[in-house]
Amino acid sequence: MPDYPFAPTWCPGCGNFAIWAALKNGIATTGVPSEKFAIFYDVGCAGDMADFNTYYGFHTLHGRALPTAVGAKLANHDLKVIVVIGDGGCYGEGGTHFINLMRGNHDITVLVHNNHRYSLTTGQMSPTTEKGTKTKSTPEGSIEEAQNPIALAVSNHATFVAREFAPDIARLASRITQGIKHGGFALIDILQPCPIFNPVQSPNWYRERLVKLEDEGHSSENLEAAWKQSMRTDKLPIGLFFQESKPAYHEQVTELQDLPLVKHPIETVNLTNLLKEFK
Ligand code: SF4
Repeated sequence: MPDYPFAPTWCPGCGNFAIWAALKNGIATTGVPSEKFAIFYDVGCAGDMADFNTYYGFHTLHGRALPTAVGAKLANHDLKVIVVIGDGGCYGEGGTHFINLMRGNHDITVLVHNNHRYSLTTGQMSPTTEKGTKTKSTPEGSIEEAQNPIALAVSNHATFVAREFAPDIARLASRITQGIKHGGFALIDILQPCPIFNPVQSPNWYRERLVKLEDEGHSSENLEAAWKQSMRTDKLPIGLFFQESKPAYHEQVTELQDLPLVKHPIETVNLTNLLKEFK
């Protein structure tokens, strides 16, 4: 890859540095040439990564990295498609898109930088902020219950559901490789420290609460067990909650079975009958 176009502008201690490193390592480990990747970035501190990467990609509107990625995948399903997005963009503005990507089993790896805040806009509450938390937009404590993205994914047909911790770079990189190779929709919800607008959920705060699913005897083939792990309140499990193999969306579209859409010879498209319908 060529040199990076710009140096990162993230704050010192930001978990985005670790996710950035894990993403690059995770991609390299797949063995797939980097020009075969397309990354779609949402708005937010996470999406600023668009300026620091040299993969093909697109910096989209807020919440719209998800449907834009679907369009790219359907146009050229030879691409490995990744979404880089925050908890606000994925579970808030893009919430309905998120559910529909899971329902369709679109072959896209979604990396959610979950810092429990809208940090680019200086620390308002997000869909994953714990109830009662004081933020800039909730000075007396937030009233809404926090969303549970793992439970949401497990109950909405996601075929790969994982949660990891940003500072564990090697472990996260390996999970990203696994998600890219999955062959269907893959959610990796990444617990990302934001020392500026969420100093309470620091790396040490997380380390006191995390447990690894593999140490708990969890089977990622067991949907009911995945649901139970997703609903735990005593500890914060990380690892692979659930995985199953099902045909991806593009594999079920007849027109895409022989060739990606971008490789269809344009001269074989006969528009005569279609145009007649509009006369
Ligand atoms: Fe990272 Fe938080 Fe700074 Fe954004 S505000 S760059 S999430 S530390």
